[in-house]
Amino acid sequence: MWRWIFFLAVLCIAVVGVVWVVQHPGDVTLQWQGWRLDTSVGVLAIAVLLFAGLTAMLYRFWRFLIHVPAEISLALRNRRQRKGYTALSSGMVAVAAGDATEARRQARRAEALLSSSAPLTRLLSAQSAQLEGDEKAAERFFNEMLEDPETKFLGLRGLLTQAVKAGKRERALELARQAYRLQPKSEWVASTLFELQSANGSWLNASSTNDDMARKRLIERPDADRRRAVIAFELAKEADAVGDADKALKELKTACDLAPDLIPACVALMRRYIAANQHRKAVSLAEKIWARTPHPDLLEPYLEAKKAPDGIACVKAAEKLATINPQHAESHIALARTALDAALWGEARKHLKEAGAGEGLEPAARICRMMAELEERENSELAKAREWLVRAATAPVDPKWVCTACGNAVNEWSAHCGNCHTFDSLHWATPPHISGLPAPKQVEDKAALETEDKATLPGPGISDPPAISPLQP
Ligand SMILES: [Zn+2]
Repeated sequence: MWRWIFFLAVLCIAVVGVVWVVQHPGDVTLQWQGWRLDTSVGVLAIAVLLFAGLTAMLYRFWRFLIHVPAEISLALRNRRQRKGYTALSSGMVAVAAGDATEARRQARRAEALLSSSAPLTRLLSAQSAQLEGDEKAAERFFNEMLEDPETKFLGLRGLLTQAVKAGKRERALELARQAYRLQPKSEWVASTLFELQSANGSWLNASSTNDDMARKRLIERPDADRRRAVIAFELAKEADAVGDADKALKELKTACDLAPDLIPACVALMRRYIAANQHRKAVSLAEKIWARTPHPDLLEPYLEAKKAPDGIACVKAAEKLATINPQHAESHIALARTALDAALWGEARKHLKEAGAGEGLEPAARICRMMAELEERENSELAKAREWLVRAATAPVDPKWVCTACGNAVNEWSAHCGNCHTFDSLHWATPPHISGLPAPKQVEDKAALETEDKATLPGPGISDPPAISPLQP
């Protein structure tokens, strides 16, 4: 709109100017070097305008000629870069698809088309080398990446993954520390550093990394507390090993306060209280835990803490414990166990039925074994006892410490899974039932069944793809 108004204004002024010149004609005479030119003012003005226009056009043409080589070279460079980035993205796609040959081809193209300093080119070259199984070449590319601040983190990440895969823990730890200094907010780096520190038994360093992660909200507070509890339990074991009882007690208290469901730590604390003649503390700790998470491992130290002198006293102590969580199967099992030991057959039978041995129920293996013991000891019913033992062989597996990462089931808790080495992955649960296994035809010896407890049961990892290690990005 304004452009049109401006154009019309300029046109009006030009028309007025032309009309004025036509209305006021005048003569111009030029004399130069013996030459004489007579003309009108209008013709001279037109000649001046034409000359100015021609000069401007010549100037523009001259400028065009000067800039042509630079423009051509820029266009060629842009085209090269476009092709380079296309090769780069095709290479990345090939890496994702696991096509090693195509990845290498595109990496070479990208290297040739883009300047060698292009950060992503080196990453692609390293990844394609890894796909081809050439770890040495990949390491060379990752090391080159360390020199450029832009790609240093990517280089460290690649070298760290290589070191973890090769099982070079010390080197991996050093690289993880460097990567953590560079990117302290990266959840993967922090988790990897924590895993490596805990796997190395550097519990104090692991604890400080854990606190750091909680502060930066890389993990939730309850998860950080749980990890801290496990670390405290491990620190207590270390203190115990060097005879520092006060430190061991302090760390055990921390562990039980932060994670009251960390049963092994609570049992250890109970034992420490009993050893220090603080039986009441041990009793109250067991009762506090039984209210939330009853566990068979608590029964023995509880009876010890109650200083029950005989079988009947043990039954009375178990009754006190069971009243805290009366509906729970573990309460019935604790009552049945103490009743069996005190030869109170009726009581034992009643609680075993409550715990799952009743009509139409599918009792767990340990209930079946206790029923077998009851039948044998009460009435010497060997046939019935054998029947229960056979039933135990196919019954649902007893709860164990089951790894949530790989399904490995063990009797003894540890901070790391013995199979996949994941930190704090063992939780008290019923291992997945393995169907299709042939049941033993005849079980002659109860001990044969007891040994089953010590076997490591394969978990869901049998058919599932291998779990991705937390050490991998
Ligand atoms: Zn595991």
